[in-house]
Amino acid sequence: MKEDKSRRSFLKNMALAAGSAIALSGCDMKALDHFLQKNFRTLSKAEVDEIITSLQLEYKNKYGKDFTVSAKPATDGILFGYALDLSRCIGCRKCVYACVEENNQSRGPQIHWIQVLQMEKEKGIDFADSDVHYNPEKVPEEGHFYLPVQCQQCRNPQCTTVCPVKATWQEPDGIVVVDYNWCIGCRYCMAACPYGARHFNWAEPSVPEDEMNTNVHYLGNRPRMKGVVEKCTFCIQRVREGRYPACVEVCPVGARKFGNLLDPESEIRYILENKRVLVLKQELNTQPKFYYFFGV
Ligand code: SF4
Ligand code: SF4
Repeated sequence: MKEDKSRRSFLKNMALAAGSAIALSGCDMKALDHFLQKNFRTLSKAEVDEIITSLQLEYKNKYGKDFTVSAKPATDGILFGYALDLSRCIGCRKCVYACVEENNQSRGPQIHWIQVLQMEKEKGIDFADSDVHYNPEKVPEEGHFYLPVQCQQCRNPQCTTVCPVKATWQEPDGIVVVDYNWCIGCRYCMAACPYGARHFNWAEPSVPEDEMNTNVHYLGNRPRMKGVVEKCTFCIQRVREGRYPACVEVCPVGARKFGNLLDPESEIRYILENKRVLVLKQELNTQPKFYYFFGV
């Protein structure tokens, strides 16, 4: 209840500071129920079960489909990590679109959790001179290389530290998640993230019904609402079931590697121990669990 109180007083203060009331008048009762729901981390198992049952019903009514909503927790002994081979990536953006489909990202307004940056080989990694809207006839374009960026799942995530209502946090398996029902849309986390990995739903997200992925996780790819922040979760709905993230599976050149950093036999550990890896913006001490390397 302590968190309930602090969130309400934060909202009240925000409203007073802005000199305007929080606009709840347009919400229907269901939206109000969602709004007043407790922070996910304070829910009992019975409360989680009840919320999931109600969500499945709501999605069935809204999308005409049966959804499987999981709230599967982290498994002991697992800390997820990711590695991307920059010498293999060809900039095809298949990962971007597989991620959009798997994670029910809005098609309009468009949200992409993965962004692929084109850079000039001559200049090396240079964000200031990178191009996210590259569109040559054929990739890879001569003289260029490609650097995909998504949430770096930092060990020291600034995004969670600044959230005034604790709507985002790092799970025991290292995945940084958002409780969409608890997010107040202040976007402090977006300002704090040095990788531009968080995205805000300025409008009601739109996903074609026939393209909706019905296998969802409460803290991941379930349908979002207007006014909340979202980001890559390493496909929490997949990886907690022992599957690879969609971007790893789809990459046609095997540039993407994923696994358990605590398992000495894993491919990710092999890469960390045998390749020269780098993390982005190391000087900021965010300590990403997303590594880049040159395999050849
Ligand atoms: S799918 Fe693979 S090769 Fe294509 S842009 Fe993504 S990481 Fe690069
Ligand atoms: S990349 Fe950004 S959103 Fe992801 S954990 Fe780090 S600070 Fe947070």
